[in-house]
Amino acid sequence: MSTTERTYIMIKPDGVQRGLVGKIIQRFEERGYKLIAMKLVQPTEQHLENHYADLKGKPFFPGLIKYMASGPVVAMVWQGLDAVKTGRAMLGATNPLQSPVGSIRGDFCLAVGRNICHGSDSVESAEKEIKLWFPEGVVQYTSALESWIFE
Ligand code: UDP
Ligand code: MG
Repeated sequence: MSTTERTYIMIKPDGVQRGLVGKIIQRFEERGYKLIAMKLVQPTEQHLENHYADLKGKPFFPGLIKYMASGPVVAMVWQGLDAVKTGRAMLGATNPLQSPVGSIRGDFCLAVGRNICHGSDSVESAEKEIKLWFPEGVVQYTSALESWIFE
């Protein structure tokens, strides 16, 4: 397991509108993950169709694209030990009603179609999503906390 594993985390339009940006970022910071890219963007439907390409054909796909294009999103890359799997655990289940209390979805939302955040589901999807959302690349820097977070 690598301390430089990266995951793509996105705060969806409802998370931005509801003022949850700071709280969601805080959870990743406090857990010990390192922020290596972040921007507020209004995504196009075409871009979102690429992002969710593997869901094309699902009955909820048109509604999902409309929801995701309804306002700006916060696109981020977080790096650290087991970032993909632990990132998903921090978000909770796809359906907020099945998300444990203490997870982001389990604490802040109720409906599957308004579940406020996205996280990559595998290291391979993370690499693909990071390239798609950050074609300009991520930021390399040394965190002063690293030796206090990792052995
Ligand atoms: N979604 C939905 N209805 C469903 C399943 C998914 O509206 O029955 C939405 C939901 O916002 C979810 C997104 O589509 O986050 C992507 O679905 P996926 O299965 O990839 O879930 P995730 O990886 O986000 O947990
Ligand atoms: Mg997914």
